[in-house]
Parts: sequence; C-alpha cells; structure tokens
Amino acid sequence: MDHGALAAGLLAWYDENAREMPWRVGPASRKAGITADPYRIWMSEVMLQQTTVAAVKTYFERFTHLWPTVQDLAAADDTHVMGEWAGLGYYARARNLLKCARAVVADHGGVFPTDRKSLLALPGIGPYTASAVASIAFDLPETVVDGNVERVMSRLHDVHEPLPLSKPQLTELAERTTPKNRAGDYAQAIMDLGATVCTPKSPHCDICPWSAPCLARKNGTAADLPKKVPKAIKPTRKGFAYVAQTPSGAWVMERRPDKGLLGGMLGWPGSPWEETAQEAPPFAADWAEVGEIKHTFTHFHLFLRVMVANAVASAPEHAVTLGANEFQPSDLPTVMRKVFDVAQVHFDD
Ligand code: SF4
Repeated sequence: MDHGALAAGLLAWYDENAREMPWRVGPASRKAGITADPYRIWMSEVMLQQTTVAAVKTYFERFTHLWPTVQDLAAADDTHVMGEWAGLGYYARARNLLKCARAVVADHGGVFPTDRKSLLALPGIGPYTASAVASIAFDLPETVVDGNVERVMSRLHDVHEPLPLSKPQLTELAERTTPKNRAGDYAQAIMDLGATVCTPKSPHCDICPWSAPCLARKNGTAADLPKKVPKAIKPTRKGFAYVAQTPSGAWVMERRPDKGLLGGMLGWPGSPWEETAQEAPPFAADWAEVGEIKHTFTHFHLFLRVMVANAVASAPEHAVTLGANEFQPSDLPTVMRKVFDVAQVHFDD
C-alpha cells in the first residue's frame, strides 16, 4: 500500500470531518498557525485513559478553568484536586496528574519536555500518552496505538492473526502510515476515524476515506476484525476490606503474611477471599459499606466490598498504624490502592 497516499487521504477527510473537542486545535486553526497547548493536551490524555470523551469534557473544562496553567495545578491543594476529580474514577490518575505537574515545574522549568523519552519519565505518562502528547502537542511523528488504531489497521490490511499476538505487526503498520508532516493532525484523525467511521460493530465503509485501499472491506471481513485470542475463563472470588482511621488520623493497616499472594505487603485488614463474601470485621467499630472494587489477578477476578469506620477507639495489637505523614497510597499494592481510592473520600483530611 502507498502509505503516503493513505496519510494524505485520511488528513483530507479530517480537514472536513474533525470532531470538536475543548482541548483540540482543529485543522483550520492549525493551518492558521495556532499551536496546541501541551498542558491541555496532556491533561485531556490523562483524563481520557479509561474514560470516554463525553465524560471527560466537563471535567476538562472545570480543571482548566480552576488551574489554567501547569504552574497553577502544581501549586494546587491536593485535597481540592482529588475532590474535583471525584466521579472520574481511577484516582491514581489524579495523584499522578499532580505529581507530573509538580515535576514539570520543578524539573523542567514549567515547560513540558517535547521528546517522548523525557515525557515517559514523568509520573503517570505511559507509552500511549507519551506518543499522544509528542504528536498532538508538538507535531512529532510519533505513532499512537490504542484499541481504535489496532482495529483500523487490522481491517485496512486484513490482518487475521488475533490480538494480542498481532500487536507488533499492527504497530509497525501504524508506524509506516504516520506521516512526517502534520503528525498531530494525523494522530487525531485516526482516533476520529476509529471512533466515528471504523467503529467496532458495523463500520461505515461507504463514507470511509480508506474505503478504496481497505482490504477487509474488499474481502468482506471488516465486521469480524480484529480477531482476539479467547480469554481463559477466570474464577471469581469475593471478600470484604476494612479501612479505618484512629481519632488522630492514623490508618489502621496490616502486613500480609510473607507467604502467599501479596506476601509481606501492607494492606487493609479483610475477610478471606472466597466464592461468597463473608463479613469479618477485624475489630468492633461502626462499619459502613461505601462501595466495591474489582481487581484481576493472574488467576482470578476479585470483588472486594469496601467498609469504612471513622475515629475507631483502638486498633488491635497486630495492626500496623500509619500516621497521615507516613502513609503513601502509592506504597500499596494495586488492589489495596483501589480499596483506598473508594474509601478515602469518606474520611476528613
Ligand atoms: Fe474500516 Fe471500512 Fe474504512 Fe476499512 S473501509 S478502514 S473497514 S471503515
């Protein structure tokens, strides 16, 4: 396939059909010399991790109104930021948002680094976000590859090898099509194509700019692609996790036994993880259920119901109590951090 012609065709389509987004500098504005603000692109990409465009829009507008620059965000109060993030989920992203803003101010003089490697070194920026920021904010020819791009590439080239085995091939194909010029517009164009035209079910091949070269359209296989390796069925286990604070604000935790899953790690006391959840409060307190988390380990899915208790009179002897200053949620294993994410909004600062 002529990759230059593919990119040109998609860009011409984008010029006419680009979606409007609060963080986006559309193709006409870009041509008029307006450049994207890396701070806004970075924030939108962090918010879009695991969240839909529709849900992100209002949060993005509120955040950029409250903190218009990376310096403003870096100086923000943690609790205020966490509070504004509430409802968007995956609170680790909010904590990383703050850490990253502070790192940009402290280590880069308040200016986002342009190259992918330096971006990757910042908190909360993984390979996809680094490529997205490098291409959209700085117009560098970095390739964004997410589920949308994999779907479009597998169809365009009629790749039948299932995901994730086909990932390297699809990534290479995506890289070959990424143009040197207008890389930022191209990255956004392929995202728009995947979201609005080459949709998972019933792709709209009749209005697609790649209709002519697309091999899956030609072979009638588009709706069956991409193929995926069937997931092994994992068992599900259930339990309770108990998060409590003493009157002085210390968290009541426990260290897990050295042997077994999460051996030796710090976590919240809880019930055994079994087929049915059985309440097992570690000590008497006024426990209230505030939510549930799901976590997938290699061999099973786990659902934990989250219980909280404020100002508990005394922690049991074997408990580990950590004062607010010593406690770092990032020190916890992911499953325990998920429990904390759900529980923390029910405690005072
Ligand atoms: Fe997707 Fe159809 Fe376009 Fe091929 S022609 S890229 S299957 S929308």
